[in-house]
Amino acid sequence: MSIPIGCRGYLIDLDGTLMSGRMALPGAVQLVEQLGERIIIVSNDAEHTPDQLAARLHAVRLPVPAERIVLAGTTALDLVATEHPRSKVMLIASAALHRYARNLGLCVTDERPDIVVLARDRGFTYAKLTRAANAIRAGARLVVANPDRTHPGRAGDVVPETGALAAALLACTGPVPHRIIGKPEPMLFLKGLALLGIAPHEGMVIGDNPETDGLGASRLGISYVHALPGETLSLEDIHKKQGAVQNIGERAIA
Ligand SMILES: [Mg+2]
Repeated sequence: MSIPIGCRGYLIDLDGTLMSGRMALPGAVQLVEQLGERIIIVSNDAEHTPDQLAARLHAVRLPVPAERIVLAGTTALDLVATEHPRSKVMLIASAALHRYARNLGLCVTDERPDIVVLARDRGFTYAKLTRAANAIRAGARLVVANPDRTHPGRAGDVVPETGALAAALLACTGPVPHRIIGKPEPMLFLKGLALLGIAPHEGMVIGDNPETDGLGASRLGISYVHALPGETLSLEDIHKKQGAVQNIGERAIA
């Protein structure tokens, strides 16, 4: 089917929208094929690098290159490296993000850091919590890659996310100003729009979480289409849904 006039790019969530665990969801392969270079994947993943996820996507016939994958963890480190080059960073994160940070020229250290960057760390410990809380109390700034506290597991269980670690840290420090990178904050969507070279009204967000994908999109004036669990994603349905959302909006204005 043809692309409706006005929609020039798609910012698509990964977990629960295109993939579940390591499997492609129904319709995802065809959708990625149809949209080609108009796709940017925008994910609150704060554990992997775009290269790692590109390989994972490629393995299930979703050929999206790393350059078109925007992730909360690596974007947090890109931001710190741009705004505070060569700063001392305490990094609570995966081994992959540690390597990524060093490649950006950041000095990763637990000794009197300027900034604490909190991402998804499956090796999170009491000792790390102690060090990070006291670094912040001593004046280090806090950057939280992803605000999500959990994500759904395959068996309906919950999987702890970076937001749960942030809650533990903030329970120790008390309320402190901190910067949040992941959705629904605007940074990942703005980066995606810039990569596509389009304005917010020319894009569409497709996601499975109204509180992150939907809220983030609406704050920026990007249209949002909700992917329901178990639904086959087709371009036709996506644009029907978008039409329905617009009609509701038009009725409300009338
Ligand atoms: Mg999702």
